[in-house]
Amino acid sequence: MAQLTSKVGLIVGVANKRSIAWAIAQAASAEGASLIVTYAGERLEDNVRELTATLPNVTVLPCDVTDDAQMDALFASITAEHGGLDFMLHGAAYAMREDLAAPFTQTSREGFRMALDISAYSLVALSRRAAPMMAERGGGSILTLSYLGSERVFTNYNVMGVAKAALEASVRYLASDLGPQGIRVNAISAGPIKTLAASGISGFSNILQTYRDRAPLRRTVETNEVADAAIFLLGPAGRAVTAEVLMVDAGFHAMGV
Ligand code: NAD
Repeated sequence: MAQLTSKVGLIVGVANKRSIAWAIAQAASAEGASLIVTYAGERLEDNVRELTATLPNVTVLPCDVTDDAQMDALFASITAEHGGLDFMLHGAAYAMREDLAAPFTQTSREGFRMALDISAYSLVALSRRAAPMMAERGGGSILTLSYLGSERVFTNYNVMGVAKAALEASVRYLASDLGPQGIRVNAISAGPIKTLAASGISGFSNILQTYRDRAPLRRTVETNEVADAAIFLLGPAGRAVTAEVLMVDAGFHAMGV
């Protein structure tokens, strides 16, 4: 039987067909889930509507994670139209381009605030709204997307690395808060993939090549491989896993010299 049959899931973070969140949306849909897929800003609405038109049982709604009123409206619509929520994928991240190029010491107060707000606090803000709906259904699963730059220094990853460290710590605190209600909170730390977000990191192709040269599997990962791991964490197979950062990176994280 499909792993997410009769489950309702919220997917935040689809920008285009290369988005990791899009691969996860497709996989969750194939496993039988009904989905609410959000877009951030009108510029992306057409893209997201066009992509999701290929899937059954999808509602498309706006969600800019810096806008509390929009997040409130999103969850009100989910309650009205779906009556509940079983899982949520958080794939939103943003840093100002200049902060991904200049030395880290040059990070501006505003750049730091924005990166941490959009890439880390948003998980807390969305989870707070999702949790009562999941609790009402006896539990749920929340998943976010991180990167090894949270623990190690990667050239030009800069403030995004700091945001990912905050994101992973937030996963643990949320897991502790929400666990008694049967809600699990996890992250996948994915290997580098050429997406819109990655295009903001100068020298990204060097990072990709380093993984091909040095990861135990001698390759990079694909979005559909991240999606397979996501289904494990979102679905019943991951029922005893929470507060975890699962590395889906061809093993690169384990390597020293
Ligand atoms: P992407 O550009 O397709 O996705 C990033 C998403 O963040 C976009 O959909 C964008 O609309 C959304 N976003 C930005 N600002 C937002 C806001 N204010 N409100 C709501 N959404 C907003 O790129 P991706 O690589 O698929 O990124 C998805 C997640 O995966 C990110 O958290 C990213 O850091 C993480 N990740 C990416 C890689 C990689 O190499 N691509 C590796 C590890 C982790």
